Amino acid sequence: VIWLGQAEHKVTTTCAYCGVGCSLDAEMKGSEVVRMVPTKSGKANEGHACVKGRFAWGYATHKDRILKPMIRSKITDPWKEVSWDEALDYAASEFKRIQAKHGRDSIGGIVSSRCTNEEGYLVQKLVRAAFGNNNVDTCARVCHSPTGYGLKQTLGESAGTQTFASVAKSDVIMVIGANPTDGHPVFASRMKRRLRQGAKLIVIDPRRIDLVKSPHVRAHYHLQLRPGTNVAMVSSLAHVIVTEGLLAEQFIAERCDDRAFHQWRDFVAQEANSPEAMEAVTGVPAEQVRGAARMFAQGGNGAIFYGLGVTEHAQGSTAVMGIANLAMATGNVGREGVGVNPLRGQNNVQGSCDIGSFPHELPGYRHVSDTTVRMQFEAAWGVELQAEPGLRIPNMFEAALDGSFKGLYCQGEDIVQSDPNTQHVIAAMEAMECIVVQDIFLNETAKYAHVLLPGSSFLEKDGTFTNAERRISRVRKVMAPKAGYADWEVTVQLANRLGYPMNYTHPSQIMDEIARLTPTFSGVSYAKLEKLGSIQWPCNDAAPEGTPTMHIDQFVRGKGRFIITQYVPTDEKVTRMYPLILTTGRILSQYNVGAQTRRTENVRWHAEDRLEIHPHDAQERGIKDDQWVGIQSRAGETVLRALVTERMQPGVVYTTFHFPESGANVITTENSDWATNCPEYKVTAVQVMPVQQQ
Ligand code: SF4
Repeated sequence: VIWLGQAEHKVTTTCAYCGVGCSLDAEMKGSEVVRMVPTKSGKANEGHACVKGRFAWGYATHKDRILKPMIRSKITDPWKEVSWDEALDYAASEFKRIQAKHGRDSIGGIVSSRCTNEEGYLVQKLVRAAFGNNNVDTCARVCHSPTGYGLKQTLGESAGTQTFASVAKSDVIMVIGANPTDGHPVFASRMKRRLRQGAKLIVIDPRRIDLVKSPHVRAHYHLQLRPGTNVAMVSSLAHVIVTEGLLAEQFIAERCDDRAFHQWRDFVAQEANSPEAMEAVTGVPAEQVRGAARMFAQGGNGAIFYGLGVTEHAQGSTAVMGIANLAMATGNVGREGVGVNPLRGQNNVQGSCDIGSFPHELPGYRHVSDTTVRMQFEAAWGVELQAEPGLRIPNMFEAALDGSFKGLYCQGEDIVQSDPNTQHVIAAMEAMECIVVQDIFLNETAKYAHVLLPGSSFLEKDGTFTNAERRISRVRKVMAPKAGYADWEVTVQLANRLGYPMNYTHPSQIMDEIARLTPTFSGVSYAKLEKLGSIQWPCNDAAPEGTPTMHIDQFVRGKGRFIITQYVPTDEKVTRMYPLILTTGRILSQYNVGAQTRRTENVRWHAEDRLEIHPHDAQERGIKDDQWVGIQSRAGETVLRALVTERMQPGVVYTTFHFPESGANVITTENSDWATNCPEYKVTAVQVMPVQQQ
């Protein structure tokens, strides 16, 4: 559709897809959006947007939207449309019944990184104050929970250290396990601008991503490692830096914990961590690793950007700590143009973690066992809080299967499609007595729900998102909620019915409460957001206008802490039966499980997930381009069309996960990160064979 008219008015809001957090102007004719254009003054995007953001309103008015609440007592029963009152009364009575029968800890909730900070805050408050337990988790569990753990351990704060804009001052850019061209396109353009000006690029990725070799950008090093060997790679890079005298000695002496540094230095200096010794593990020639390490340590301002190719591993947290070690070892933290930068997948992954949606942390990353902090929340919320961490999402599934977890409030996350080992998730869902799903579409998870509460898209609510550079931006209501309520209002009504009154009339009041209770946000308010446009936290008395660069004079934890990163091979092994490693990623025009982008103009560019396979592996199996292939793992099997390409290395295959019929997560394993339970999506041993398509 080509729009030829002029907008009658516009509303500035924030894109609800990826962690770049582009500011977008929704141009309106009456109450209809006719176009979305990037806001020129948006600090995260400077007037740019990608193909996802430009069509971001399409799904909001899609015919598949659920507009009426529905209930059913068994998942085999047909849905019955009911009023909001009846649906909420039923949900509340079921949760009360389950707790009376199975105990306080038998129910929990899931916070979505698609929803606003204010909505996430309310869900975790509902769980802690109204349910009376800490069984709350977020979909960040399956993406960047290792970032939260790893950066807190090493630097002291679970967040990226610099602004997107400061990449313009980087001299060497290291991209590990991320594909910004497809996953974070507007930031990728910024990065490419800097690369065209002469900055050096090191890519560490099993696949030859676009950045390695595109018309205007070439990586100086592409360390094409085997999936699952990130920790071996960062340790061997560190080995070169330590043994060749490339350490930032003064920075380390002044800024880092001495004892931890010496232990780490002695560890990485061991011959077992040398690029030569690790070559058999990573598959990368030692000379390339040595060259890349020298370039990073000696090339000036060094910035590291990483993604789910780092975190979604059995050693995801270890790899994050290894990356922080590299940055500290080379003095690349605490000024513009340097730093450690997790490229967050969803729009509000950073925010959902910030506002207390992990089972062990209250807002502001403060542990639930901290009595002083807990007392502060108890006084404000008027309840007694549990001092022990609650269940993580995978623990909820385990507890459901052993009969102790019976009820779930799931706001805006499709756990059946997005969590690993689908069969296991479904079995857990079927074992529960009441699942309340709040979503805009009848997603895969809703198939196992007992109550369906219509959700609201980002265009139908006020609130804030926090992007990957800690930037809090306003989400503004563009249209009235299609089903009558914004998500935050639904949570308020559910809490009221559970006997825990919530009295908010606007999300700004929720942000005021977050600010009152959370030191890093104490200076944030909607009034200030209107004035400044956006704010990077921490924002408080010490930094009233926010903090673009963190850890300037000292690390948030005081002294930076090096941590030993011992490489441990994943349990997922290739065998004669499963000789290939499957890894996964995203494509530019689609977003995550595709619930939104599959219902916009974006399907024009990408209408199916394909299996990328190297010509050698394809030939060995008699597989031709476009042919249907069966992919079998220890967990399950699925069918995709093949794309034969030299982007892949021999022995490794790849697919995206945007379409439910592809079943990418039917075949992924149950392995997870040792520290956070983040699933190991990136390493699955598979066999691939040609099949006749049904
Ligand atoms: Fe920006 Fe990401 Fe939205 Fe694209 S998807 S417009 S890069 S926020």
